[in-house]
This record gives sequence, C-alpha cells and structure tokens, in this order.
Amino acid sequence: MKLRKVTAATATVFALALTATACGGDDGGDNNSSSGGGGDKIKIGIKYDQPGLGLKTPDGSFTGFDVDVATYVAKELGYKPDQIEWVETKSADRENALARGDVKFIAATYSITDERKEKVDFAGPYLLAHQDLLVKKGSGISEATDLNDKKLCSVTGSTSAQNVKKDFAPDAQLREYGTYSECIAGLQSGSVDALTTDDSILAGFASQEQYKGKFELAGLKLSNENYGVGVKKGDTETVNKINDALEKMVSDKSWEKAVEANFGPAEYKNEPAPQIGNIVK
Ligand code: GLU
Repeated sequence: MKLRKVTAATATVFALALTATACGGDDGGDNNSSSGGGGDKIKIGIKYDQPGLGLKTPDGSFTGFDVDVATYVAKELGYKPDQIEWVETKSADRENALARGDVKFIAATYSITDERKEKVDFAGPYLLAHQDLLVKKGSGISEATDLNDKKLCSVTGSTSAQNVKKDFAPDAQLREYGTYSECIAGLQSGSVDALTTDDSILAGFASQEQYKGKFELAGLKLSNENYGVGVKKGDTETVNKINDALEKMVSDKSWEKAVEANFGPAEYKNEPAPQIGNIVK
C-alpha cells in the first residue's frame, strides 16, 4: 500500500514536469503549414521497444515497419530522413502528444477506434493486425478461457488491455504496464503467465535472439486492429496528405518491401494492404 502511494506521488511529479516542458511546444513540424513541407525538422511519434515495428537500437538508429511507413510519409510531406526527429510515444501517451503538438504525426501500432477518434484524427489504415496471446512454450494456455485467474500482462492505454476487461478475459488478473518490453520481462521471469496485444508485436518479440524457442503465440484472432497514422484533431490537410502518401506507398510496392524486411524475420503472416478508409470492425 505504502509503495503504491509513493509511486502515485512520483507519477504526479513526473506528470507536472511533463506539462511544464510541453508548454510552448509547436505543432510538431517547423514552418511547414503553407507549402506542405520542407521545413527544418519534423517530429514523429513511434514506439521505441517493439521489434519489427518501432525499435530504437543500441547504436541509436530506428528500425521497424512503423519507422519505414513514417519515413515514407515524411518524404511525401517534404522531409528527408535526416530531418526526422523521432519521439517515443508510449500507448498511453499518444492522444496527449498529438493534442499538445509534441509531434506532427504518430505511427506507433496505433489502432483506429471510435473512442480515440473523439480526440485525434487518423489517416489510413495501413495495416490490419489481430490481438493474440504470447505464452511460455508448454504453458497449457491456448484459449482466452484458459486465462481465468491467470496473471495477464498488457499495456495501459492500449486497446489490448481494454478488450481483456470488457470482452474475452474479464476474470484474468490483468497487470497493466507502461510498455510491452516490461511485459516480456515479466513473462520471462514468470511474474506473469501471458502477454496480450497485437500478433504483429508479439511475433516481433518472440523472434528476438534471446527469446527464440521460449515463447509461442496462441494464434487466436481476438480482435481487428486497424493501424492508423494519428494526427492532431482537425488537421484534415495533413490527414489527406498522409492518405495520399500511404496509397502511393502501396502502389509503388514500398509497402510490400517494408513488410518483407520487417516482418519476414519474425515469420509474421500479415494481412494484405488495407484500403484507405476501410476499417475492419
Ligand atoms: N494496437 C493496439 C493499440 O493501439 C495495441 C498496441 C499498442 O498499444 O500500441 O492500443
């Protein structure tokens, strides 16, 4: 109990510090409103800890499908790769980061939902994933019903955690962490029994050298996760430009190349490229 209080207090201080630094923030892109691009820098939100999607590597570079999509979109908006400033946007931070103007757009396994659409706008979708479970090999957990009374890890602010509570595993002991890499560490140590989120993310983790042969995906398609590019609410001009960029990325085969390069190593069987505006419910 005491520990919990300390944590809450620390979180408050941290939140205040964040608010303070956010004051005076711009719209995430410098000097790019009228000409449609070509300013000094563009700030883009991604994940930093999701192999195959958005990963900051030890040498400080960034890799993954979301990184490739974002780089392509930025190019179409008039920014070269060296003009991109990557910003970590964890699941629970995304709506606020856009509202504050910390970033111009977010490509971070960000599912388009009606609830989120009240706060942000989305371009896309550009990928369809499905919620699944990652467990230790031989755990005996293969269905959502096996999760009753089990410790199930997911991330605060994600659709994955929400779906667990309202849909398929209300009786699981849900542990909400800040990032999926914290859940993976918990799965490895045995402090949680399963991790749930999009199969695209789980496949990326499972294929990491240090986890090879240890974990397995259950292969359940528990939901449809339509990844969109998040944009500040009301910025229709940027949404339209990003939709054009995403369409071009598919038609010139860059989308397919990015899929192969990033999901190939994880043997992730992705769905075909979605049509812009076509949300699979
Ligand atoms: N795609 C889901 C979501 O937007 C889960 C992955 C994530 O947390 O980024 O919440």
